[in-house]
Amino acid sequence: MKIHEYQARQLFREYGIPVPDDILCYTVEEVEAAAKKMNRMTVVKAQVLVGGRGKAGGVKLARTTEDAVSAAKQILGMDIKGCTVEKVLVADAVDIKKEYYVGLTIDRNTKSVLFMASAEGGVEIEEVAKVNPDAIHKIPIDPDLGMTDFMARKIAFKLFSDIAQVKQAADIFKKLYRIFMDTDASIVEINPLVVTNNDALSAIDGKMNFDDNALYRQAEIEKLNEPTEDEKKEIAAKASGLTYIRLDGNIGCMVNGAGLAMATMDVIKHFGGSPANFLDIGGSSNPQKVIDAMNLLMSDKNVKVIMINIFGGITRCDDVAKGLVTALDQLNVKIPIVIRLSGTNAEEGLKIIKAKNLPTVNSLSEAAQKAISLVN
Ligand code: GDP
Ligand code: MN
Repeated sequence: MKIHEYQARQLFREYGIPVPDDILCYTVEEVEAAAKKMNRMTVVKAQVLVGGRGKAGGVKLARTTEDAVSAAKQILGMDIKGCTVEKVLVADAVDIKKEYYVGLTIDRNTKSVLFMASAEGGVEIEEVAKVNPDAIHKIPIDPDLGMTDFMARKIAFKLFSDIAQVKQAADIFKKLYRIFMDTDASIVEINPLVVTNNDALSAIDGKMNFDDNALYRQAEIEKLNEPTEDEKKEIAAKASGLTYIRLDGNIGCMVNGAGLAMATMDVIKHFGGSPANFLDIGGSSNPQKVIDAMNLLMSDKNVKVIMINIFGGITRCDDVAKGLVTALDQLNVKIPIVIRLSGTNAEEGLKIIKAKNLPTVNSLSEAAQKAISLVN
């Protein structure tokens, strides 16, 4: 789960990290009122769940209320990497001396939280990682010790030489680590953390992602969720017992079992096709699940063909076939379907499918190739 910058800033504030004041706005009128209230230079910032807003024109400095209004007119409604801007943050702008990057994530190699810090802040860190990887300090944090004072200072000294700034930075780093641990985050980033003209440190952008599997114990964080259209579909799917992840391809997949669903996507890729989704309908033959799953697949405009791949284990293929037929009878499916059944009672199942004049195939490879040829 991701949250917006304005939400991350609020969390930072609650932990005592210095963040400039801001007001969230949904309309140009609200921006005007906010800019007047701030009564000095502001920065108008698109609130979308993607990075690189600055480059895309979604972050604009405004010296006057008029500037802020014209920035809001440009930014509200704008498209940034496929996200429409519905709200902007009007934030107190700071005069920047230098920008730094600070981020925490989980490192599988060291099995610990990895603290990343760089004096090359402001730009996208992925870019720094490519062009100048040595400019990013990476420090694993001992899970037993946590972020100790000496470690926080050690990292701070890598970025700053001025003692007052080292102290401020070390304090921010410790708080950032606490946020990361307290909220079951998977990423926390301040980019940029800046030194202002008054030599004070300030977090002027915030990014946070959370571990979805920990949300059950993070009620306060879960409340912050503002799902995208795709995520809303995934949540609805979960409620009807389906595990669905949308992808960019055009072959809609319906599979029973997560492992088989992964294998199905691999085989489609192997033959040069592109899956539109991951979809695990679980191990039942309940026609309602198939109906829900078909509706889900058909709601995706990119889906040109549906590939159903069922392996009968405890669930018998003839039961699944009956469920499929019941479901398809109730639906008006206009795109081609390819059905592969294998395992327990596969023959009986295929008979039922064939009796309904639905196309079947004999193997997973054949199913993938047929689906790909139907797309083309
Ligand atoms: P991002 O592009 O999505 O990462 O958005 P940021 O919030 O990081 O803003 C992008 C860039 O805009 C920053 O790296 C700064 O250079 C600039 N910027 C943002 N806020 C301010 C501000 O208050 N004052 C000044 N002078 N520049 C700012
Ligand atoms: Mn940023």
